[in-house]
Amino acid sequence: MCSTHKKPSLIGGVLKMKCPNCRKGNMFVNKTVFPLNKCLKLTDNCSVCNQPMVGEQNNGPGINYALTVIIFLINLVWYWPIFGLSVWDNSVEVYMIVSTVIVVLLQPWTMRYARVLYLYFYVPYQSNRHLDT
Ligand SMILES: [Zn+2]
Repeated sequence: MCSTHKKPSLIGGVLKMKCPNCRKGNMFVNKTVFPLNKCLKLTDNCSVCNQPMVGEQNNGPGINYALTVIIFLINLVWYWPIFGLSVWDNSVEVYMIVSTVIVVLLQPWTMRYARVLYLYFYVPYQSNRHLDT
């Protein structure tokens, strides 16, 4: 079966929030962000390769801030052509308000991806030795 030799892609693993070591197991207990009060709950160990999912508490804010800035910039790309931005009226303030609302609404996802990116940064693919079979 060719599928057993296929290496899961890095981008796909990040987007689907899969384990950084095997890119097969889920990182989070819940597949969706709902219920919100459990949306940041990581599994203790990967169900596929047993990679520990270290829930570092001090990693989130920095990466989350970077993601927030990125969302603001992405908003600028579609907001500018559609609504226009000018320093002569209040369009910049409206843009900031719209972007802030979008960032707040996306917060459960950005916080999750902040953790995903952090783990991918510290756990290279197949760094878990006992998986090399
Ligand atoms: Zn795994």
